[in-house]
Amino acid sequence: MRIKRCSNINAQILNTFLCCVPIIQIFEILDISGYVEKKTVSGKATGQIDDVMIKDPYCEAYFPKRNAVHSNVKGNDLYFCSKKCRDKYVARQGQEN
Ligand SMILES: [Zn+2]
Repeated sequence: MRIKRCSNINAQILNTFLCCVPIIQIFEILDISGYVEKKTVSGKATGQIDDVMIKDPYCEAYFPKRNAVHSNVKGNDLYFCSKKCRDKYVARQGQEN
């Protein structure tokens, strides 16, 4: 009897488990697709930002924003092609005032 009961309980657990698995799998698939979608969207967005060509305010050369040297000069976000240009620009700004 004990063994039967045990096996019954086991069967019930197994049934419950088997019933739950497809639901869990559906949620997993939805989660994963949502995750992949988000990742792709954010990846695209990042890619677009990275591929933006911006102008160095000092030497006036165009270069990809991902290679930019960022600097905040008097509250303005500026992007330079190199630290040299940034330093020269900042120095020039200092001289003007
Ligand atoms: Zn430059």
